[in-house]
Amino acid sequence: MDDLKQRAADLDAADPLSGWRGRFIIPDGLIYLDGNSLGVLPGNVPARVADAVARGWGEQLIRGWNAEGWMDLPRRIGDRIARLIGAAEGSVICADSTSINLAKVLQAALAMVPERQVVLSDTGNFPTDLYVAQGQLGQAGTLKVVAPEDVAAAMTPEVGVLMLTEVDYRSGRLQDMHGLTDRARDLGIVTIWDLAHSAGALPVDLAGAGADFAVGCGYKYLSGGPGAPAFLYVRPELQNRVSSRLTGWMGHAAPFAFDPDYHPAEGIDRFRVGTPPILSMVAMDAALDVWDGVDMQAVRAKSLSLGDLFIACIDRFASAYDLHLASPRDGNHRGSQVSWHCPDGYAVMQALIDRGVIGDFREPDVIRFGFTPLYLSYAEVVKAAAILQDILRRRTWDQPQFHARARVT
Ligand SMILES: *Cc1c(COP(=O)(O)O)cnc(C)c1O
Repeated sequence: MDDLKQRAADLDAADPLSGWRGRFIIPDGLIYLDGNSLGVLPGNVPARVADAVARGWGEQLIRGWNAEGWMDLPRRIGDRIARLIGAAEGSVICADSTSINLAKVLQAALAMVPERQVVLSDTGNFPTDLYVAQGQLGQAGTLKVVAPEDVAAAMTPEVGVLMLTEVDYRSGRLQDMHGLTDRARDLGIVTIWDLAHSAGALPVDLAGAGADFAVGCGYKYLSGGPGAPAFLYVRPELQNRVSSRLTGWMGHAAPFAFDPDYHPAEGIDRFRVGTPPILSMVAMDAALDVWDGVDMQAVRAKSLSLGDLFIACIDRFASAYDLHLASPRDGNHRGSQVSWHCPDGYAVMQALIDRGVIGDFREPDVIRFGFTPLYLSYAEVVKAAAILQDILRRRTWDQPQFHARARVT
């Protein structure tokens, strides 16, 4: 792999994003290829959270809601995320979890198409999305799940809502947001996009695509911390015409009027429900500082280049160990992760983690590697591949401790 090592050195030397790594806290020697599951800690977060605890909570107490602007954080953070996903100001809030936000927008979407209570999704969608749809539809509608490549053809007249994840969590396959949204609009189908593996990973153009609703995750590429608040987007023209059925006082037009009757706030605020988790919001807000001045086109270019290099490395030994690429080889059809079907993949991943290379495992046999251009180098990618080859060659993974399943894989 010496030629690939040299290629990595050349790419690192010319990398316009290399300066960003210093803004993250990464344990020494760790090669972290799991920023698609939990992004690493931005260096400015600990002090901001410590200040929110000691000064905000400790000293300001209840006064903090006004003095610290806590009440506006969902909107302010939403606007910062909006810039990364091609959304207008005032069309995104940061709130709740992705699952809860999906339930909110799905209810709103279904209410727009009362005669067509059929939700179309694909088999590659993340299970929580499918569970949310099953729960929200109950006996009153149908969830239709087809193969990812069959989605366009499955937009039949009974379908009311198209609910897709742009980047498949397992394979990294990228759906055609523009094309499918256009087709849906022509057919009167309301669109919901889950951007869990898109936000901070690649340029997204929600407004340009004309998507109706979107949701996404704060703790993956955006590095907002474990269980960070998620986000929710509603197309500006729709905002005052739709509402969630998960209505709470924070989505009321005047929460502190304590009116017994619900009247939705104007705009995106009506999708708020309860009191925001301020300590987590502060962490999320601080984490977003890293993205100021980041060119998403440069992020995309490096992400694909990191993935291509990793594929080139693994290609050298894949057939000897029965590894099969589970992701599109063509970067135009791939998000920011690359996966392989790998026999005994769970144990192989545990052995890799034991050697300081963190990726993850997804059932049934997929080893998955995420590429986060702001803090990964090309040299690390080549090194990670060499360690994987060594583990496979020596069968290091075939030890009892690597087979025992943990609760989180
Ligand atoms: C990670 C992920 C989620 C996570 O949902 P939570 O409510 O945060 O647990 C949802 N959807 C997709 C597509 C994901 O990849």
